Amino acid sequence: MDYSVVVIGGGPAGMMAAGVSAEKGHRVAIVERNKVFGRKLLLTGKGRCNLTNHTDIENHVNNLFPQGKFLYSALNLFPPAAMMKWFEERGVNLKVERGQRVFPANDDSHSIRDAMVEYMKNNGVELKPLQKVLECQVNENGFLINTDKEKIRTEKLILATGGCSYPQTGSQGDGYGWAEKFGHKIEKLEPGLVPLISKKRILNEARGLLLKNVKIRLKDRKENRLYEELGELEIIENGFSGALALSASLFVKKGENFFLGIDLKPGLDHKKLDLRLQRDLEERSNESLEKIMGGLLPAKMISPFEKITGLDFKKSGHEISREERKKIGENLKKISFLIEGKKDWDEAIITMGGINCEEIIPKTMESKIIPGLFFAGEIINVHGLTGGYNLQAAFSTGFLAGSNC
Ligand SMILES: Cc1cc2nc3c(=O)[nH]c(=O)nc-3n(C[C@H](O)[C@H](O)[C@H](O)COP(=O)(O)OP(=O)(O)OC[C@H]3O[C@@H](n4cnc5c(N)ncnc54)[C@H](O)[C@@H]3O)c2cc1C
Repeated sequence: MDYSVVVIGGGPAGMMAAGVSAEKGHRVAIVERNKVFGRKLLLTGKGRCNLTNHTDIENHVNNLFPQGKFLYSALNLFPPAAMMKWFEERGVNLKVERGQRVFPANDDSHSIRDAMVEYMKNNGVELKPLQKVLECQVNENGFLINTDKEKIRTEKLILATGGCSYPQTGSQGDGYGWAEKFGHKIEKLEPGLVPLISKKRILNEARGLLLKNVKIRLKDRKENRLYEELGELEIIENGFSGALALSASLFVKKGENFFLGIDLKPGLDHKKLDLRLQRDLEERSNESLEKIMGGLLPAKMISPFEKITGLDFKKSGHEISREERKKIGENLKKISFLIEGKKDWDEAIITMGGINCEEIIPKTMESKIIPGLFFAGEIINVHGLTGGYNLQAAFSTGFLAGSNC
């Protein structure tokens, strides 16, 4: 036997699994098709890597789908706080930003990737970059892995090949085919964390604008509230992007319509906002409404907002009636858009679907079908909202799989 453990996939899940397993004393190799490890990891958080969310396990479970509970054991063994300590002990200083998002203090994802590679090397993991795995087989002695360079035999195998979004990073869904051959069920693969499509053209003038502190509410046709959150929303051509829209997209099904309500002033309730408007209109009574609204909205939003309210923004403050003021307040607190769909694979950040969780032992990440086969990371049917939940899931499942093989 060449190795006790082989990991396929040098992303965050695979690197963590390989390092932990080697630290336990196993002879471990990790096979990665790219020259560099963690290519996708380097792109995360726009190159800054939002590696986790500084909240408790319960919050992580609630922000992972379709069954966050499947990750209780993984998150208990390697919770967000432990992971942050883990990186800080390896010299990576971290910082917590709005929404409890955790980033390396130097805003550079390389420091996270480099710490992982160093950890693997320090524990004697044999790194095999530039090797594409073509096939995996199982027999009574273990696993046989055929790469484009060699044949590798191993007692235990960890599949950490990721999903199939951003295929240029190397994650092309190869692991699903092998798992299926091993008898595993693959839950339908769908593009996840994608922009929302809304053809109402009224906001097109404001495209490119990032609204930094708004609240959105997504509802289905039956008025069921599916998602509500405060944060950043980007206006794009015929739709919405940014962290809030991407997260909301996890609840949007193809072929169905949804409603998105945007609260542009979440910090003020209706009463306080009305008082603020009253004050602004009085104090600036000779200025145009267009100018007055400049104190409440980003410049790019003024003209679309004028169209939404149907008011004449050339009017002066003193010309605005009580009803008109109320109308402004109501629209600031809620503009509604019909959501007609979501974008496709070419814009997907993550893959929804994957290896059916019921066929994986949650306490170990081992297959219930093939002993000695383990899974870690996005290949599993668990996906999270934006905010660091996906990387935490990858690191925690990698840690659990590595600890148990
Ligand atoms: C642009 C972008 C930004 C993101 N930002 C964030 C963020 O800030 N926070 C967050 O929590 N999540 C973020 N994510 C999601 C996160 O990156 C993934 O969930 C995470 O990388 C999954 O880790 P993984 O190890 O399971 O898989 P991957 O990172 O996809 O790694 C899988 C590895 O397997 C290798 N591989 C696949 N097939 C083979 C084969 N046949 N042979 C050899 N090697 C193979 C691939 O080359 C790849 O390196 C982002 C994703 C993208 C695309």
